[in-house]
Amino acid sequence: MLGTLAKWLRILGFDTLYVKNMEDSNISRLAAEEKRILLTRDRELFFKTPAAIYIESDNLQHQLEEVIRKAGVEIDDERILTRCTVCNEVVRKIDKEYVKGKVPEHVYQMHDEFYICPKCGRIYWIGTHYKNMEEFIKKIRTSLS
Ligand SMILES: [Zn+2]
Repeated sequence: MLGTLAKWLRILGFDTLYVKNMEDSNISRLAAEEKRILLTRDRELFFKTPAAIYIESDNLQHQLEEVIRKAGVEIDDERILTRCTVCNEVVRKIDKEYVKGKVPEHVYQMHDEFYICPKCGRIYWIGTHYKNMEEFIKKIRTSLS
C-alpha cells in the first residue's frame, strides 16, 4: 500500500523495510524487535503497535512530510541516494570501468560516478531524473519549514 513512500524514504537514505503478506502480529513484533517505526494506513495495526505512525494522506509529498514531521527526522543531504531503492542496502561506489556494458552506452559516456547495490547488483548514477528529484525534495523542505 505504501510502496512508493518506502521507495522515496530509501531515496532520502532512511533505512526502510517494506513488508507484504505478513500477519499483523508479526509486523508489530518485527517492528519492535528491530526498533523500527511502523508506517501504516491500517488503523487496527496502528493501534496495536507502540511505535507507529498512521499515514493519512494519499499524496506522496504529503506522506513524506507526515513521516518526517511525526518521526522527528530530517532530510540529510549526505544520505540522499545512498541506498538501493529496491532492497534497502547501502550502495557503494564502483570504478567506472566495471560498469562498461552493464549500463546504456550513453550513460557510460556521460557519467563518471557509479554506485552498486551489494545485494542485488543494481547500478546507480546521478542521471537526468535527479533534477526532478531535487525539485521534489526542495518542495518538501519548503513545506516543512
Ligand atoms: Zn539492491
